[in-house]
Amino acid sequence: MKLLNYIKGKFEEPESAEWMDNLSPSTGKVIGSVPLSGESDVKLAIAAAREALPEWSGMDPSGRAEWLDRIADCLEEKFEEIAYLESLDTGKPISLARSVDATRSVSNFRFFSKMIRDMEDEIYEMEDATNIVKLRAVGVGALITPWNLPLYLLSWKVAPAIGMGNTVVCKPSELTPLTADLLMRVIDEVGLPSGVVNLVHGNGNSGSMLTGSPDVDLVSFTGGTSTGAKVAQSASPQFKKLSLELGGKNASIVFSDCDLEETVKGVTRAAFLNQGQVCLCGSRILVEDSIYDRFMEMFVESVESMVIGDPMDDDTELGALISKQHLQKVQGYVSLALEEGGQIVTGGEPCLPKELEGGNWMSPTVITGLGTETRCSTEEVFGPFVTVHRFNSEHEAIEIANNTRYGLAGSIWTMDLEKGRRVAENIHSGMVWVNTWLHRDLRVPFGGVKDSGVGREGGKWSLGFFSEPLNVCVRHD
Ligand code: NAP
Repeated sequence: MKLLNYIKGKFEEPESAEWMDNLSPSTGKVIGSVPLSGESDVKLAIAAAREALPEWSGMDPSGRAEWLDRIADCLEEKFEEIAYLESLDTGKPISLARSVDATRSVSNFRFFSKMIRDMEDEIYEMEDATNIVKLRAVGVGALITPWNLPLYLLSWKVAPAIGMGNTVVCKPSELTPLTADLLMRVIDEVGLPSGVVNLVHGNGNSGSMLTGSPDVDLVSFTGGTSTGAKVAQSASPQFKKLSLELGGKNASIVFSDCDLEETVKGVTRAAFLNQGQVCLCGSRILVEDSIYDRFMEMFVESVESMVIGDPMDDDTELGALISKQHLQKVQGYVSLALEEGGQIVTGGEPCLPKELEGGNWMSPTVITGLGTETRCSTEEVFGPFVTVHRFNSEHEAIEIANNTRYGLAGSIWTMDLEKGRRVAENIHSGMVWVNTWLHRDLRVPFGGVKDSGVGREGGKWSLGFFSEPLNVCVRHD
């Protein structure tokens, strides 16, 4: 599969004439090639977006909402193809690609279409004047996305961005370009006006050319914290609108009064969904001392029962890690855990389903015995690797949960809902679930605090981020 950039309504070879291999995470084999776009490609894409801006931003919001619906319909027709390509490209189980990635990609367009259709100007009356607050497009947006939830996150940005009248240039991760290409095919098929959505493939350099360009007005970035810092460094001096959705080291807090069976299921899912490669994953499990032994017995059994194997197999629960380099990073944390005084309770080894030699395989790994200050307990690993810690009081659980530079999410497991809410309100993060995890309502704000990011997207927060409010005050006495 030889992918092309999508600029001004046309699939184009990169002017750089450079290409990268796209590798399958589960086999290590080459599955295609991706343009390594250079400066002129990025400039052409930005110019196309700039040219399309006046007409697109001038269109009535309900007209733009209709386009979002057309895209959603066309994506829905390609539901199985999305799931197949996402599983092939990321190594995630196809069942997950269906239930999460394909489903959400469609619903992101439908959800924002409805929000934009329902949007109204705000009116504030004074005795002698009327204020009208209108949301207008920001301009040209750069939308930069990571490899873990490729189309899920790209559609989460494209839908509100163009719905609010911006035109955009997308830059997906070089590791997972396939569904971004599919979205461009959909956009082409429905006949969206050319230049409204453009896409350049490439690596971090292509991304930094976008964020540093004076012709880009807005940057929505999802990725790692250290990359986020570089994006901020390049975009902030030009006062671009900037949203940064970054890493996490989220705690799952298990109280002794939880429903143990449901909690073990929920905590296992939170730890290992997508091989632990979700920014929201509960990678630190804090367990109240009085139920620690019973919890561990059930948790380890639950982890060891997970089916690892061919991502295309319907029964597979755990697939491959994204790349060799990432596998090595995660394995490095297993060695570090031992150096830091931890014990491996299960996993820790590379595991290779025989038929898939060459892929990036690792068994789900549970580490105990580590201090809560250690690197393994506080740094984002972003793989099938969790640490488990004991606590004795509500206060101690909160202290451990907050003892990291990240502040994205968390979950609390207790039958005492008042305690659940009380503890949740003391966790320094953007989102906390009680007796559930990754239970998403698209109307609520999504994002983190501290090193997990700046700003929020989701619902009216996305509409706010992808627009500029204009206040018109008309005196009438
Ligand atoms: P990453 O290495 O930071 O890359 C993210 C995107 O930025 C990719 O498209 C990447 O391109 C591009 N990029 C790299 N360097 C750049 C630069 N200097 N300027 C502009 N763009 C640049 O992250 P990742 O490894 O793909 O994803 C994993 C990380 O994302 C984890 O830390 C995870 O927690 C985080 N994440 C956060 C959320 C959230 O909502 N908070 C959601 C999902 C993931 P290339 O990949 O082609 O280099």
